[in-house]
Amino acid sequence: MIEFRGVTKRFPDGTVAVDELDLVAEQGRITVFVGPSGCGKTTSLRMINRMIEPTGGELRVDGRDVLSADPAELRRGIGYVIQQAGLFPHRTIVDNIATVPMLVGSSKKAARDRAMELMEIVGLDTSMAGRYPAQLSGGQQQRVGVARALAADPPVLLMDEPFSAVDPIVRESLQEELLRLQSELGKTIVFVTHDIDEAIKLGDKVAVFRVGGRLAQYDEPGVLLSRPVDGFVDNFVGRDRGYRGLGFLSSDTIPIGSLPVLSVGDPLPDDGWSVVVDGSARPLGWVEAGEGRVTEEVIVPGGSLYAVESGSLRGALDAALSSPSGQGVAVDAD
Ligand code: ADP
Ligand code: MG
Repeated sequence: MIEFRGVTKRFPDGTVAVDELDLVAEQGRITVFVGPSGCGKTTSLRMINRMIEPTGGELRVDGRDVLSADPAELRRGIGYVIQQAGLFPHRTIVDNIATVPMLVGSSKKAARDRAMELMEIVGLDTSMAGRYPAQLSGGQQQRVGVARALAADPPVLLMDEPFSAVDPIVRESLQEELLRLQSELGKTIVFVTHDIDEAIKLGDKVAVFRVGGRLAQYDEPGVLLSRPVDGFVDNFVGRDRGYRGLGFLSSDTIPIGSLPVLSVGDPLPDDGWSVVVDGSARPLGWVEAGEGRVTEEVIVPGGSLYAVESGSLRGALDAALSSPSGQGVAVDAD
């Protein structure tokens, strides 16, 4: 668990990059820091492994204040992945990954075995083990970067825009891999991105920063989408993106059986509804009350679900499209 209590970073030139940050990144979860460029995401992340020292407040990793921890020891428990994987160009892939366990005392043989295992874990074909970084695509290099960060088996993984430089299709598969990996390994991950869709897709909880290093909102993705605290967050999570979407209409609060009965073509009722698109009760998008209409009725045990179409269906439709159930969501790019 990583706890920020009133954490501030004022650089020597007077710039306040992070201003009284309060949040807890829970153990075994993915916490995402998202916000516009320059809002203090990287600074917040780097304070966790003490690459940058906080100038105010308290920041604890596993109960220990980072300023009283030995930096080398602190970092052994924290993997770190950045946008450019930063691989050693003259070492093979397997040796790039094996370097870390060797540094912490593994034999060469054990380190290489571990490296091969990690290649599989991050979805790299082990036949690439003998190649050099330049012989890999950008996406493959990022996978190596993730494998290397995992090599010492740290409980915490910090990731600073790790997928921002790869093309959208590869990025999507890297995101999927990360979710799979996290569900298998249960790392505590803090992930920085400027891309709200990525944040919504990956985050168990998402911290939205505003310029000036202030936290605007820290919530689960569904809450950000359905209950943004102010206009800045609302705008940032995509109120006006004008997605047209189809999702199953349900309610957070009332059982399906007591939803009002609607018919295809009816306008949506005008209070308190959200769109649950993957059947798992995680609201992935929502419609403005009263905006939109019913396009399909789906009979389910205990009542009906309604597919809706609405110009104001917000955000997260990418996540919905790739949801495991793949259920009932279509997006019209107009
Ligand atoms: P982000 O990762 O959200 O783009 P950063 O954390 O890198 O933002 O930077 C936050 C703010 O702190 C920016 O205004 C940036 O210019 C400033 N900043 C970052 N590093 C330093 C530094 N070493 N000295 C002074 N200002 C800095
Ligand atoms: Mg940054």
